[in-house]
Amino acid sequence: RWLAGAAPSPLVCAHRGGIMQYHLNGVGMGDPSVAAEQAPQGGALPDRMDVLIVGCGPAGLILAAQLAQFAGIDCHIVERKDGPLRMGQADGIACRTVEMFEAIGIAHQVLREAYWVNETAFWKPDPESPSQIRRNERIRDTEEGLSEFPHVILNQARVHDLLLDRMAKGPRRMAPHYGWAFADHARDDDPEHPVRVRLSDASGAGRPDRFLRCRYLVGCDGARSAVRRSMGLTLRGDSANKAWGVMDILPRSDFPDLRIKSVIQSASEGSVLIIPREGGYLVRLYIEMDKLGPDERAAGRDITVEQLIAAAQRILHPYTLDVQEVAWWSVYDIGQRLADRFDDGAEGSPRVFICGDACHTHSPKAGQGMNVSMQDGFNLGWKLAAVLRGQAAPGLLESYSTERQAVAEELIAFDRSFAQIFSTPPEAVADRDRHETELQRSFVRHGRFTAGTATCYAPSTLIAAAPRQALARGLPVGMRFHSAPVIRVADARPMELGHVAEADGRWRLYAFAGAGDTGQQGGAVARLCDWLGTDGASPLRRYTPPGADPDAVFDLRAVFDAPHRALEVTAMPALLRPAKGRFGLTDHEKVFAPDPQADIYALRGIDRARGGLVVVRPDQYVAHVLALEDHAPLAEFFAGFMRPAG
Ligand code: FAD
Repeated sequence: RWLAGAAPSPLVCAHRGGIMQYHLNGVGMGDPSVAAEQAPQGGALPDRMDVLIVGCGPAGLILAAQLAQFAGIDCHIVERKDGPLRMGQADGIACRTVEMFEAIGIAHQVLREAYWVNETAFWKPDPESPSQIRRNERIRDTEEGLSEFPHVILNQARVHDLLLDRMAKGPRRMAPHYGWAFADHARDDDPEHPVRVRLSDASGAGRPDRFLRCRYLVGCDGARSAVRRSMGLTLRGDSANKAWGVMDILPRSDFPDLRIKSVIQSASEGSVLIIPREGGYLVRLYIEMDKLGPDERAAGRDITVEQLIAAAQRILHPYTLDVQEVAWWSVYDIGQRLADRFDDGAEGSPRVFICGDACHTHSPKAGQGMNVSMQDGFNLGWKLAAVLRGQAAPGLLESYSTERQAVAEELIAFDRSFAQIFSTPPEAVADRDRHETELQRSFVRHGRFTAGTATCYAPSTLIAAAPRQALARGLPVGMRFHSAPVIRVADARPMELGHVAEADGRWRLYAFAGAGDTGQQGGAVARLCDWLGTDGASPLRRYTPPGADPDAVFDLRAVFDAPHRALEVTAMPALLRPAKGRFGLTDHEKVFAPDPQADIYALRGIDRARGGLVVVRPDQYVAHVLALEDHAPLAEFFAGFMRPAG
């Protein structure tokens, strides 16, 4: 099933309906993904704002899609181009990114449209006839049970469209301001909006420069980032030594793995990576081209699309490749380069940040460009929202650069070795007995890394240094919350527990009950609920604004180790059936039981006897694991960075 099947169940495609909650404050018809209360349609770019994002790439759009969910945050995004991306660029969407899309609300659509990379084929020179290629092996693309979602392929322009749609449907009703290019910025001592920004017209209409002020500026403006330059930062590292061609084509071919992701290494003609694309016919080819001299750029070689096609045909020999249409192509050289820091270095109150290619570049062969860039934006988004909404002290923002720089460093080290192995002819010709190629071994070894699930944030104020990890061994602190199936008690719905988490800035507290605890008074879950709901020291009481719903800041969910029909929602502690909204309606959807076919306690190593409390950040990373009785340590953890509600 979801957990153990060869590929994720198609059920994941349909799961979103029934998990969304709406009608809380009155019944409204129409598309429920449009926020019930939206700001008036925004028009002009104001002179002052909370956040200015520069660049409508994946990093900028994921950040904007998150901030658009907060009615009180005035965020704007500018883009120098005159409209949305239409074609090309990155296409790989790692499992971890689909998990993030689930929280953003676009996973179901991505899964419906995308190509699913379930297997990968490795081709190498035929030992009997080295001028020809031969399939060496076909393996699972991602390890079993790594994520409830598959690795998929969908073009970047389509991902942008879905994020633009989320922005438009959020309470802030955001749309990009096209045709404005960031020029430079300065920071001064204005108490409210200390970042002054100059934008210049890029629309060709000859509009005069605009001078704006914002509280925070985020450069998501790609590898040649003007924001980075204006911050005085540079990318450091290696320049590329190889030109690569990429083309999206409609081919006619007798190559048997045209619909399987294939890594093809020829004996002397170089390598090709075949990525089947969404829709059933389109195929992307990455083709190894010329070696470049020191400081030489691929653009200087004037490589044509005909040369790309000819190189691909030589590498694929003896198979044919007859290109019917080239939808998009490009020749590029990308080195592995990294910025020293991802913010303006102002201790205690950074105001300017860079995300995505603006702070790290790497080759596209491991498909990380779009993924890591979006994870940057996802990491920063909830932190900016927490600070702007007064929930956390500005020092929280320092963790963005610390956490994401470490991830980028790892990525660059990996990319350097992967790119090197990719361009080295396989050893098979020399050593006929060796079955796996080095590339194949590296692919398997780094599977979790390329799936995006290996990220582990180091201990900090946001990641507990001494968790009670033994209570939830399969949910390591610092790593993303690895979802598992459950049954929702109120309506007997099988679903993924992790899918209750939306990108809404809220913390999730998952209470796993110990043996014999079914929510009854005096049990550990009931005592936790009582303390959270009534004790002045509890984070819920300290940080939830007066008058807000009880789950406005902390979304408590409980899993009881009992059959779902044996549990009674109405007998649960009050905090697990909170009254919400203007009518005080009961939220019945906080209580879960294990799915008998995929037991969450066993899958995630939850201590069956004692249970445990798993604290999850708004960006889905596990921050702490505690015993259900650890009330004071829970309060202490949040006191490290949160601000009491007014
Ligand atoms: P980008 O996607 O680069 O977005 C930056 C945005 O900022 C752009 O829309 C740009 O117009 C805008 N911008 C730039 N300067 C300014 C300014 N001064 N003011 C306002 N707006 C500005 N990755 C792969 O994995 N496979 C590929 O085949 C591949 N091909 C690529 C081809 C090209 C031509 C490019 C540019 C990138 C390619 N990449 C590829 C890389 C991948 O697209 C990036 O890793 C990913 O898009 C990074 O996202 P980002 O949001 O950080 O930056």
